[in-house]
Amino acid sequence: MKNIIRIAVQKSGRLSEDSLSLIKECGIKFYNGTGKLKSTSTNFPIEFLFLRDDDIPGYVADGVADLGIVGENELVEKDKTVEVLKKLGFSKCRLSLAIPKGENYPGLSYFEGKNIATSYPKILSDFLQANQIKAAIHEISGSVEIAPSIGLAEGICDIVSSGSTLMMNGLKEVETIFKSEAVLISHLNLSDEKKEIVDKLLFRMNAVQKGKSNKYVLMNAPNESLDKIAKLIPGMRSPTILPLAQKGWSSVHSVISEDQFWENIEGLRAAGAEGILVVPIEKMIL
Ligand code: ATP
Ligand code: MG
Repeated sequence: MKNIIRIAVQKSGRLSEDSLSLIKECGIKFYNGTGKLKSTSTNFPIEFLFLRDDDIPGYVADGVADLGIVGENELVEKDKTVEVLKKLGFSKCRLSLAIPKGENYPGLSYFEGKNIATSYPKILSDFLQANQIKAAIHEISGSVEIAPSIGLAEGICDIVSSGSTLMMNGLKEVETIFKSEAVLISHLNLSDEKKEIVDKLLFRMNAVQKGKSNKYVLMNAPNESLDKIAKLIPGMRSPTILPLAQKGWSSVHSVISEDQFWENIEGLRAAGAEGILVVPIEKMIL
C-alpha cells in the first residue's frame, strides 16, 4: 500500500459530521454507508477508517493509520507520539472542574485531599501536579456528573460546552483546565510518497479554511472616494474597479476577512460606498 494514505475519523459522535464535511469540501468523494468501518475514495488516494475517537491517537502513533482527526483532549489524554499538522477549528470544548452547587469554593485548595471523578486522569493529574494539589483521581468512563450525588467523589473533571448537564446534576463549574478543538494528526515517519499525498490534502484543507474565513465584497462608490476605499479593502493584491454605466461611479470588488469587514464597514459607508454585497467564498488559493 504505497500510493494511498489512510485517515482515521470518528465513526459517530461529535467529531464525525464536521470531519467528513471538511473532507468533502476538499473535493474528495467517498461512500460512508451506515455501519461501514472502511471506505476508499473514488477520486483521491485516501482510505477511511471509521473508529471510536479513543482509538484514533493510538492507531496513528502505530502507523495503522497515517492521519487522524481527533479532539486535542483525547490526544493529550492518550499521550501518544504523533505530529499535529493543523488545528481544524471545530468541536471546540473545554475540560473543567465542577463541584456541588451549594459548596463554597475558595479556590483550587478546595480539592486538596478530596476525590475527583473523571474520564481524563492524565490531563487532570498533570494539572493538579502543576498546581501542587494532592487529590485522589477516580477514573470512570462515562456519566461522570453523577459521581458527587452518589458519594463517589466531591468533585468532577469533565467536558463542558453549555454547562446544562452540570446544572441538571446540581453542579457548578469552578475551573477550566484545558481547552480543546479538533486537530489533524499524522504518523511521525511517513514515506515520501505518503507525504506527497498528505501535502496535497493539506493544500486543499487550507484553501477551504481560508475561503471560510474570508468574504468577497462588492460595492458601488463615487469615483472621488476610490482611493480611500481601496485602502480599506486592499484585497489579495488590489481591489478590482469597474466603471458603472452611471458616470462618476464605479463598482469595487475585493476580498476581506469577515472580522475586518465589520471593523471597516463604517469607514466604507463614510467614504460613500453603497449597495454593499458580501458573498461567501468556497475556496481560496493565495
Ligand atoms: P466515541 O464513541 O467515538 O468514543 P465519545 O462519546 O468519546 O465518542 P463524543 O461525545 O462524540 O465522544 O465527542 C468527541 C469529541 O468531541 C470530544 O472528545 C471532544 O473533543 C469534542 N466534544 C465533546 N463535547 C463537545 C461539545 N459539546 N461540543 C463540541 N465538541 C465537543
Ligand atoms: Mg470516546
